[in-house]
This record gives sequence, structure tokens and C-alpha cells, in this order.
Amino acid sequence: MTRLRGAPEPKAVPLLHEFSYVAHRSLDELLSFLAHHGDETQVFSGGTDLFVNIRAGLAAPRYVADLKSVSDLHEIAFNEREGLSIGACATVNELIANDTVRDRYAVLRTAAEQLATFQLRNRATVVGNIVTASPCGDMTSPLLCLGTDVVLVSVRGERRVPLGEFITGVKTTQIATDEIVTRVIVGTGRIDAAGGYRKLKRIKGHDLGVVAVALIKSMPAVRVAISSAAPTPVLLPEFGADAPVAEIQASAQAAISPIDDVRCTAEYRRFMVDVYIRRLMEEVPA
Ligand SMILES: Cc1cc2nc3c(=O)[nH]c(=O)nc-3n(C[C@H](O)[C@H](O)[C@H](O)COP(=O)(O)OP(=O)(O)OC[C@H]3O[C@@H](n4cnc5c(N)ncnc54)[C@H](O)[C@@H]3O)c2cc1C
Repeated sequence: MTRLRGAPEPKAVPLLHEFSYVAHRSLDELLSFLAHHGDETQVFSGGTDLFVNIRAGLAAPRYVADLKSVSDLHEIAFNEREGLSIGACATVNELIANDTVRDRYAVLRTAAEQLATFQLRNRATVVGNIVTASPCGDMTSPLLCLGTDVVLVSVRGERRVPLGEFITGVKTTQIATDEIVTRVIVGTGRIDAAGGYRKLKRIKGHDLGVVAVALIKSMPAVRVAISSAAPTPVLLPEFGADAPVAEIQASAQAAISPIDDVRCTAEYRRFMVDVYIRRLMEEVPA
């Protein structure tokens, strides 16, 4: 490489911020590590959000702690009393392949199938999607419709928070630096509900949602949640089975506050929310 006389020596710039990788075998070990180093650590599971952020300079943790080495965080389990428990390391493809999800939590599977590509879903987790708390995360709206709690654990103990309270803003949650989410629990209240998920993208292939609507008919109620149309996904108040589409659309328009950005105008987002509510009300069987 030629260099102008007097020009400074080129510096080697690392492609990735340097960090230490830690992998604990037990949850207790991990929690005690976080009790001491939580404010300089980021845990990860699939890493499909975290490492993109590190690479972009948006996160610079001293430690990255791999949750996959911890046993007991991988399971997707169901029982009639508690509902569906989705472990922190359960991938989106594992959710799609689960028989109970296919048979009894239809809207969850439909939305999961629209998250990125097959290859990415082999790594990406449901819990990672929620903790990222992106307004366009594909798992949040269906989970809000179904009624979901987030289980947070630290050396201080365990707490259970409704998903709607867990996400506090754009990419912010209630999680403390010494806590991890061990699982989410989808209740039994809307089990077997018919549902649908409509997602607007810029391209026909795989893309982040420009705006998305999840709708379930858990008779006698209709529940609707909307993504990418406000700082956090919005769950509308419950509607009766015979609520006119116009009433649901009016409620949605009052609840959302979309923005203009490089991907879409606020006006078009509002328009598509109305379109998707109408289509889902027609498509989803009662
Ligand atoms: C090419 C590409 C396409 C994508 N397309 C989509 C898409 O179509 N729809 C969509 O919704 N998303 C999409 N994403 C974003 C991403 O794949 C998802 O949000 C994914 O579900 C994140 O899961 P993960 O396990 O990889 O998270 P990670 O990267 O492991 O973690 C994400 C964040 O959550 C924290 N975290 C993870 N697990 C826990 C836990 N158990 N306790 C506490 N904190 C935790 C991490 O510290 C990090 O801040 C895409 C990403 C890429 C790179």
C-alpha cells in the first residue's frame, strides 16, 4: 500500500469489540457471576441480536455469558394447570416444531414462521426476541394476545412479570443487570384459540416487520395486538365476539402512535393496521 509522505501510520482497527466469553454449567454459578459482574456482562442465547449490536458498536460488554451451557433452560413444556413454558434457550424453530404449539397455540406458530429465515430461526430464541424488546419483534404481539408472563431470576430470588409490563420502551425492559429470564409462561386462558398474524415487509422475502397485527378469537372474546406502530407492541382492550370491525379499527387507531421512518410512513402504517384487522377478522374462524 502506498502512503503519502507525512501521513500517519495506519492503525489496526478490531472488527469486533474484545470481550471475555464465559459459559457456566449451572444456573446458580451464572447468577452468582451476574451478582458480581452483571453491569459489565451481556448474556446471550442465539446471539443474533447481541453480536450484531456488538459489531455495530451499540454494545460493548466486558463479558458475554452463554446461556446455552446452562442445563434446564432449553425445554418447551406444557401442562394443563400452568400452560406452555418456553425456556430461555428454546429456539424459534423448536417452538414451530412443538406439537402442543401447533395444536393449541396456533397464532404463536404462525408468527414464529414469519420470523427471519429457517437458518436464523435455528439460532434465534423466543426469549431473546422478547428481551431485545424491539417494537417490530415478531414474538411479542402473539404472546401478548395469548397472555404471557416473564419469569426473571437472580440471586435475590424469582419474580414473574406480565409481558406487557416487562417491556418498558423501545428496546428497554424491566430486567435488572443481575437477572436473567429463565422462561416465559403462556397461560391456559386462551388455549385452542384460532388466530392469525399479518406482517408487512419491504420485500417479499424475509425481512423485519414494518407493521404487524396478531389477532385471536378466543370465544367469546377477540384479542388484538399490534407491532411496529408505537414504542412498544400494543395490546388492545378485549372485544366481544360480535364487535364490528370498525370498532376494533377505531380502537387500534386510538392506541397506536406510528412514526415516519426510512422503512415506511406513519400514514401507511395506520392504513395497513386497518387492512390487517379487517383481513384477520375475515380469515380467522370463530
Ligand atoms: C438477519 C436477521 C434477520 C432478523 N429477522 C428478524 C425478524 O424477521 N423478526 C424478528 O422479530 N427479529 C428478527 N431478527 C432479530 C433476532 O434474530 C431476534 O430478535 C431473535 O429472536 C433474538 O434471539 P437470540 O436468541 O438470537 O437473542 P440474543 O442475541 O442471544 O439476545 C438478544 C438480547 O437479549 C438478551 N438476552 C437473551 N436471552 C436472555 C435471557 N434469557 N435473559 C436475559 N437477557 C437475555 C441479550 O443480552 C441481548 O441483549 C433478525 C436478526 C437478524 C440478524
